[in-house]
Amino acid sequence: MSQTRYFSTRGGAETLSFDEAVLTGLAPNGGLYIPTEIPSLPADWETAWANLSFAELSHAILSLFIPVDSIPSADLKDIIDRSYATFRSEAVTPLRKTADGEYTLELWHGPTWAFKDVALQFVGNVFAYLLEKRNAAGANEQLTVLGATSGDTGSAAIYGLRSKPAITIFILYPDGRVSPIQEAQMATVPDANVYCVSVLDSDFDTCQSIVKSCFSDATFNATHRLGAVNSINWARILAQIVYYFAAYFQLPEPERKDVNFVVPTGNFGDILAGWYAKRLGLPVGRLVVATNENDILQRFFATGRYERNGSDGVKATYSPAMDILLSSNFERLLYYLAHDTQEGALASASAEERRAAAQAQLSKWYDEIKATGSADMGAAVQRLADSEFWAERVSDQQTLDEIRKYYALPAPYGPYVVDPHTAVGLASTDRSKAKGGKTWVTLSTAHPAKFSEAVELALSKDSAPGFDFRRDVLPPQLAELETLPKRVYKVRGEDGVRALVEAVKRGEKPEPSA
Ligand SMILES: *Cc1c(COP(=O)(O)O)cnc(C)c1O
Repeated sequence: MSQTRYFSTRGGAETLSFDEAVLTGLAPNGGLYIPTEIPSLPADWETAWANLSFAELSHAILSLFIPVDSIPSADLKDIIDRSYATFRSEAVTPLRKTADGEYTLELWHGPTWAFKDVALQFVGNVFAYLLEKRNAAGANEQLTVLGATSGDTGSAAIYGLRSKPAITIFILYPDGRVSPIQEAQMATVPDANVYCVSVLDSDFDTCQSIVKSCFSDATFNATHRLGAVNSINWARILAQIVYYFAAYFQLPEPERKDVNFVVPTGNFGDILAGWYAKRLGLPVGRLVVATNENDILQRFFATGRYERNGSDGVKATYSPAMDILLSSNFERLLYYLAHDTQEGALASASAEERRAAAQAQLSKWYDEIKATGSADMGAAVQRLADSEFWAERVSDQQTLDEIRKYYALPAPYGPYVVDPHTAVGLASTDRSKAKGGKTWVTLSTAHPAKFSEAVELALSKDSAPGFDFRRDVLPPQLAELETLPKRVYKVRGEDGVRALVEAVKRGEKPEPSA
């Protein structure tokens, strides 16, 4: 039975329950919550789990981390069943063969057609469950989830939290700067607890700093009980561990040994889940970090230095969900790297002393990054990272080339239209294969219809005669959204956002702008 508790990567001896870690999100000292121990798999997992459904597998794995006094086993099963009943694929995350020994793991069969659904369908139900539990015990907690999106995460969060009692969700995005399909995915959700906030004359960074400013205003934060569902939330990582096991069991048995996973990476949440799967005991060869031209992670693995990209800021690429400056969940891996490279007397110290030393190291690195924009983690850390990860950087041009390559794949594996994030992964697989390894699973993180710009650019009349986006790619469910009524709240600046939140929380029903 799980006794796991959670502590902050950046220090403090206190530990939190699963409930507290999930509802708090970011630790007050800026750190991220990680479990006090990584559990062991049952000795017979390989046979006992081999024929489980995705939901059953999820229940088996999540039970290792979630104590029954947080969520009793039967309740956890119910939460998981409801979370994955919304997926269009029986397998939830089906594996598709693209060549001998090569597969994609399609993570986009959920309600918003991108991989974040796998985690956010579950997280939405967990939030609702934990609040209900507290409120049934006499509390009156009403959570206000506030988030900013450049287009892609917002819809997954909205679909995760729509219609949940005791939760209101406000998603901010820059007016006129998200694609029509992305806005339609958010703004056609009719549930009364959902507010799509189009911030006039803004960009994504402005929206994000409005959110940050609201969170750091202690009064506003406490009054409205602000909550976050961004990728630093531990429950998101947890839910994602499952599909690495699901992929393993979908492989033909002879190909299961030494499987390598290639992961299109931005904030490092997805691939970190793969690292936990490996730590749990899944026999994984390499984990390959596939980045676009925002390549801070690729540069770390090459040099051991974690360094922001000068004054350039974020580069807008064809794979926008991976356009990041710093990679938030990478902090969790760095904690383990710091912990496991301790030398001398520390290596024989107590678990608590070793944890404190790793936390102190993390704090120091992050202070340095904040002050100077970079930190050097040293040779021992780089060597250890190198023993488990490879990293590749893929340019915009290579992304388009890769989309064309998979479209041109001969039968029975093609034509296969992949989205630009998946293409970054596939290009990285091509390069990694040359270094050895037998089985390759590339995580496919979005349906191509979600990122039509790159797909239509790659498969133009010249390069792919006969390709028709509407006919060949656009699912009827997404096409239909364009015909549904939208509800959008257009506001100006942080004052406008705050005024809207306050009006809604007072019980008013503000008129939507469109
Ligand atoms: C969020 C996202 C990613 C990056 O995932 P991380 O967990 O941030 O590394 C990749 N592809 C798509 C389509 C995404 O939405």
